Amino acid sequence: MRVLITGAAGFLGSHLADRFLAEGHSVVGLDNFITGHADNIAHLFGHERFEFMRHDISNYTYVAGDLDGVLHFASPASPVDYLEWPIQTLKVGSLGTHNAVGIATHKKARFFLASTSEVYGDPLVHPQPESYWGNVNPVGPRGVYDEAKRFAEAMTMAYHTYHGVDTRIIRIFNTYGPRMRPRDGRVVSNFIVQALNGEPITLYGDGSQTRSFCYVDDEIDGIYKLFMHGDSTPTNIGNPVEYTVKQLAEIVVELTGTKSEIVHQPLPVDDPKVRQPDISKARATLGWEPQVDVREGVRRTIEYFCTLMGSARMSPRAS
Ligand code: UDP
Repeated sequence: MRVLITGAAGFLGSHLADRFLAEGHSVVGLDNFITGHADNIAHLFGHERFEFMRHDISNYTYVAGDLDGVLHFASPASPVDYLEWPIQTLKVGSLGTHNAVGIATHKKARFFLASTSEVYGDPLVHPQPESYWGNVNPVGPRGVYDEAKRFAEAMTMAYHTYHGVDTRIIRIFNTYGPRMRPRDGRVVSNFIVQALNGEPITLYGDGSQTRSFCYVDDEIDGIYKLFMHGDSTPTNIGNPVEYTVKQLAEIVVELTGTKSEIVHQPLPVDDPKVRQPDISKARATLGWEPQVDVREGVRRTIEYFCTLMGSARMSPRAS
C-alpha cells in the first residue's frame, strides 16, 4: 500500500509512519511543523519508501501518484497547544479534514480520521462507549478542538454515506510515550520533565480527576488494526485502566526517584472530571487490547526523556 499520513512529524503520526514502513508499505508524510518536529522523522529521510511534504493540509493539497490510504492525524492535540493555536485547530479539523477526505475520494483510497475522546467532552456516562453522544461546551476553551473533531467525524461519515468512501473513525484516549514534546503541556510529559528537572510537579485541581493512559505502542497497534480490519462507525482505542491524576503524579515521583514536590495549581476550565474508554468494540471486532501497563509505559517514557534531556534539547515549551 501507499498511504498519506497528515501530521507525520507529530507524536502519533511519526510512530504510525514507522509502523506502515515496517509492514512493508510506502508512506507520504505531510506536516506543517506547527506542533510536529523534524526530529521525529529524521531517521526516515533517505528511506526508499518514505517521502515528505512540508505543507498545511488546511490549504489545497496535491499529492502525486496513487494512494491506498489517507490517515488524517494533523492537529494540535494538547490542551495547551490548541489554546495557543485555536484557529489552526478549528481549520485543520474542518478544512483539513475536507481536503484529506477529498484526496481519499479522488484516489479511491481508504480514509482514516484520528478523532478523540474529547468528542465526549466532560462525560456524563462512564466509562464512555461509542454510542455516547457527549457533553461538550462549544464556546469554552476546549471547544475549538472538541467541535472541530466532532465536525470531522460528521464530514467523514457524510463522505462514507454520500460518496461511498471506505472510512474509519478512531476515538483516541490519552496516549503517551517517546516523541511527546517535553513541554507540550500534557500531563505525562509535564510530570516526567518536571520530575527529572527537580521542578515542582504541577497537579491541577485536587488531582481527583481521572484519565486512562495508553502507551503509544499499544495505540499504534490499535490504529493499524483498525485501519486494516475496522468498520466505518467510530471505535474507541485506549487503555481502560483508569487512574486519578494524583495517582499518576505519585507513580512518576516513585519511578523517577525525584525530590520534586507536588504543588497544586488551578484546574483548567471545562477539564473533564473522568475519562475511561469502553473498548468492548475494539476487543470484539479487532481482537485488540493494550499490553503495556502504566508503570512500564511511564518507565519507558522516563528513559526517553532522560536521553533527550541529556542531548540538551530542553527549553521552555520547546518543540
Ligand atoms: N494536568 C495536571 N498537571 C499538568 C497537566 C495536566 O494536573 O501539568 C491534568 C489536567 O488538568 C487533566 C489531566 O491532567 O485533568 C490530563 O491533562 P492533559 O493535558 O494531559 O490532557 P486532557 O486529558 O485534559 O486532554
